[in-house]
Parts: sequence; structure tokens; C-alpha cells
Amino acid sequence: GLADRLQSTMQKIRGKGKVTESDVKEMMREVRLALLYADVNLKVVKSFIKKVSERAVGQEVMKSLTPGQQVIKVVKEELTELMGGEQSKIAVASKPPTVIMMVGLQGAGKTTTTGKLANLLRKKYNRKPLLVAADIYRPAAINQLQTLGKQIDMPVFSLGDKVSPVEIATKAIEQAKADHHDYVLIDTAGRLHIDENLMDELKSVKENVKPDEIFLVVDAMTGQDAVNVADSFNEQLGITGVVLTKLDGDTRGGAALSIRAVTNQPIKFIGLGEKMDALETFHPERMASRILGMGDVLTLIEKAQANVDEEKARELEKKMRTSSITLDDFLEQLSQVKNMGPLDELLKMMPGANKMKGLNNLQIDDKQIAHVEAIIKSMTKKEKEDPDIINASRRRRIAKGSGRPVQEVNRLLKQFEEMKKMMKQMTNMQKKGKKKGGFK
Ligand code: GDP
Ligand code: MG
Repeated sequence: GLADRLQSTMQKIRGKGKVTESDVKEMMREVRLALLYADVNLKVVKSFIKKVSERAVGQEVMKSLTPGQQVIKVVKEELTELMGGEQSKIAVASKPPTVIMMVGLQGAGKTTTTGKLANLLRKKYNRKPLLVAADIYRPAAINQLQTLGKQIDMPVFSLGDKVSPVEIATKAIEQAKADHHDYVLIDTAGRLHIDENLMDELKSVKENVKPDEIFLVVDAMTGQDAVNVADSFNEQLGITGVVLTKLDGDTRGGAALSIRAVTNQPIKFIGLGEKMDALETFHPERMASRILGMGDVLTLIEKAQANVDEEKARELEKKMRTSSITLDDFLEQLSQVKNMGPLDELLKMMPGANKMKGLNNLQIDDKQIAHVEAIIKSMTKKEKEDPDIINASRRRRIAKGSGRPVQEVNRLLKQFEEMKKMMKQMTNMQKKGKKKGGFK
């Protein structure tokens, strides 16, 4: 992911008080590569880099962040912005039913998404949709929608394949009114490529039924092609939103970025599988994280900021640097971590955490923290400051005093030792960075 690519660059500029132009330039080279690798449109990449650079250069670095993290923060915010900021809502017609036309190339996932969307509308919004089979060219298309309809227990309107899509759609809306459906979802035909016949047909359906939404369904796996398809459909037919399918596959999500930027139409939903419940509302921020491939590092930073007392953090940092950390500090830190939520989750949010040696052995869950507390509190002041003096008989005494098995005491001491080692590693990494710039 991008975060990996940025690691080395980040290391170099760690410890600076201000983000300089050359720092940003160096990082932007990585961002540029990563975005192109994620299959983001070149034009989009260029204007994106320009925007981020302008924002990032000269920024004061927040105390809680390294300059690298600060730049990533800007990158993520801009990525989110590029995808439309907050999620968009689905239209509601002033007079029901709300008509939604599903369009797109063959195989993009129109029919599947029609079923999924109906399912979502009912489950999440308590709506009563009618599905409409208006793809009269593929012999199996009507059957496919009817099968899906049965699966989710929803009616499918069909007039076979001898009637024009315009007539099917028109009659379906009449039927929907009579049966008090509040949504009509029209599944239309696609082609392998965009051609005039297809567009003409879709245009005439559009003119006749005046849909409230035209959702373009595109396959995220097709990357740049998806962007071109979206651009043409939007130009020729006019769309009101995009559904990006097959994001459960091995796609890097770059299409999501470019589509919004190129067509200026919002991505409304994403498809995450073939099942009828595999449709989700699109969240630009989550997609930005996916593109950055960095886990939820910013959430982690925000949590840390909110919960760790700055004064204490600084003190701890000093101790880490001088390797004079004691078991009391360890306990203090544990209780702060406890306030931040389950430890497992926090670790998962840390990019590269799984690669950090020793961290996997630090299996401390919330319940165990209380035990750890009991053990440490059973030690003498001297023992807490210098755990090396804790021999076998002292261990047994501590175990007895805390009411925990001696193995647990052993484990804790080992974990503490490993944490110290890890801190040393991290401190050395920081020291290397500090040689370049003055740390404040
Ligand atoms: P249409 O030609 O546009 O109507 O496409 P279909 O709805 O028939 O879908 C084509 C294929 O893609 C089918 O095998 C679907 O099951 C599959 N498909 C659709 N959406 C998704 C998705 O979000 N994830 C995955 N993995 N497969 C999907
Ligand atoms: Mg279909």
C-alpha cells in the first residue's frame, strides 16, 4: 500500500518541526506512483498532487504527529474530498413511485445490483420496490431477475421479450402505482461496448419514464475502462450516480477516485459480492483508507490524541529515549491504552504492526490488564525499577501476593523486556531521523 511506500520517506523527515517543500516533493513522488499503481487517472493524479502539495508545504507540524503523518493526513483528507466528501443520499420522488433506472455495460452487475438495491431499500429503509425486467436481448436476463426476485421474495414485473423496453417500463410504473410500490427499479440491457443502439434505447426509456435516478453500474475490476465508460454514459445519457461493483475482488479502488473526479457524479453504492446483501452505501473516507492501504491509522492517531495526556506522553517519551522505563510506567501506559479501547483493535489499526517483532507476543487483553496490575502492585519499589533483580524466589512471592500463577509473572516480565527492546528499536529509528532536522 501507499503507507509502505511512504515509510522510508517518512523516516527521513521524521522529527522536523515544519513540513518543507522538498519533504513534500519527495513524498508526493511516492503518492503519485501509488495512485497510478492504484489505477487512478493520470489527469486526476496531477491535479491531486498539486492540491495536496499546496496544502502541505509550510504547515506547522501538530505536536502529536510526525511530518510524515501530517502529510498523510492531508493526502487522506484530499482523497476523501475528491470522492465527494460525505456520502450521497438516494432520491425520493415527491409523488411515488421513485423510479430508478439501472444502466451499464454487459456483465457490470446491473441485474445483480437491481436485486441487491431492492433488498437494501426494503431492509434498511422499509421500502416496497418493484423490480422490472427490461433487458429483452439476453435470453436469460429476465429469468435471472425473476430468480433473484424469488430469492429476496420481491415481485418482478415482466412482459416477456417481445415488448419494447419503453413499453415495459411504462406499464411497470402503472402497475407499481396500482400496487402501492414506492420504488421502481428498472433493469436494462447492456452491451459489450457502448454503441448507438444501446444509447438510443436508454435515452428513449429515459424520456418516457423520466426516472428520478439513473444509476450507472460499473465493474471496479476494469479500472481505467470503468472511468471511460462512466464518462461516456454521463455525457450521452446523463447519470445521477454510480454503483461500483466487485470491490470484493482484488481491485485497488483507483476507479472510485477517478470516476468521481472525471464525471462529477457521486458513487452511491459499492458491490462487495454476489449475494443479495453484498451492497453497501459508499463511504469516501473508507475508500480513501483502502487506497492508502494503511489501515485506519488516522483513527488511531485521533484516539491517541484524545486519550493520552500530553504531559504524561512527553514524560514517557523521554523515559523511552533514555531507556529508564519502569514497570510503574508500564502500568501507567497500560491504563491509558485501556481508555483507548480494546488493545487488539488498536494494534490492528497500526500500519506495519504485524511486522513489528515482539508485538505479537504482547497478547494483553482488557481482562488481563487487571491481572497485570495486581502482579505489578505486588512488587517492591526496587523490583519495579529494576526487574532484573527479580529471581525465582521473588517471582514466587509476587505470584502469591497477587494471587496469580507464577507463569503469569514470568510472562509479564518477559513482555516487559520485549517492550523495552521494541522501544529501543523505535527510539533508534527516531534518532536516525533527528540527525537531519532539529527536533522540538
Ligand atoms: P449485468 O450483465 O450488468 O446485468 O451483470 P450481472 O448482474 O448479470 O452480473 C455479472 C456477474 O457479476 C454475475 O456473475 C454476478 O454474480 C457478478 N457480480 C455482480 N456484482 C458483483 C459484486 O459486487 N461482486 C462480485 N464478486 N461479483 C459480482
Ligand atoms: Mg443483466
